[in-house]
Amino acid sequence: MAAGSAAAALLLCRAVFDPAMASEGSLPGRLFLITGPSGVGKGTLVTALLARHPQIWLSISATTRAPRSGEVEGQHYFFRERSQFEADVAAGGLLEWAEFAGNCYGTPRAPVEAQLAAGRPVLLEIELEGARQVRRSFPQGFQIFLKPPSFAELERRIRGRGTDREEAIVRRLERARIELAAADEFDAVLVNADLDEALKQLEQLMGLV
Ligand code: ADP
Ligand code: 5GP
Repeated sequence: MAAGSAAAALLLCRAVFDPAMASEGSLPGRLFLITGPSGVGKGTLVTALLARHPQIWLSISATTRAPRSGEVEGQHYFFRERSQFEADVAAGGLLEWAEFAGNCYGTPRAPVEAQLAAGRPVLLEIELEGARQVRRSFPQGFQIFLKPPSFAELERRIRGRGTDREEAIVRRLERARIELAAADEFDAVLVNADLDEALKQLEQLMGLV
């Protein structure tokens, strides 16, 4: 990859992750967060990242969404009834949570804190409202916004994935416009045009290469 194209992929970066600045108070681990509209390629990119850097611990979220074909309990999500989810919220068991396209999603608190305490890099892959909550509770975390090369390409990817019904696709695209407008809040904005290039940029942002 030419240096020029690498620079072009990284649309905006206020800071590259600085390990010296990153410990969360008494917790020695580092907290990274990746967000961006549904269908932009967060899951794809994170899977590729973890394959190359297995030391990173990915938080598994709780959700009230029904499992998609092939999704496994405890691996992709902890699938919960709404009443169970609400009980978790009431008990303070979630680090953050938000409603997205008609379903609730949240990050179980205890495993994140345990992994950070053990000194592992922790990665959250969550939507905008959750990212904002995490920014308040972990201001030294490093937050990356993943952007599509265009809105038309985002729609092609959501539809091409083939996992959502038309109604869900419409809700996700509506939500995507709101999320894209918030990109400037993040420590870095990365365009996922070419996947390999985006992966290299992500590794650089996270101080992994
Ligand atoms: P998200 O987790 O953000 O909802 P996914 O990882 O499920 O998105 O990706 C949505 C679709 O886009 C998938 O079919 C995936 O294979 C495809 N995709 C991801 N990254 C790229 C890319 N750089 N170029 C083309 N297609 C991509
Ligand atoms: P999906 O239904 O496509 O798996 O996820 C929908 C959206 O919910 C995605 O933007 C994803 O990043 C987000 N999400 C997944 N887990 C969490 C979570 O724990 N908290 C929040 N706030 N969002 C999440």
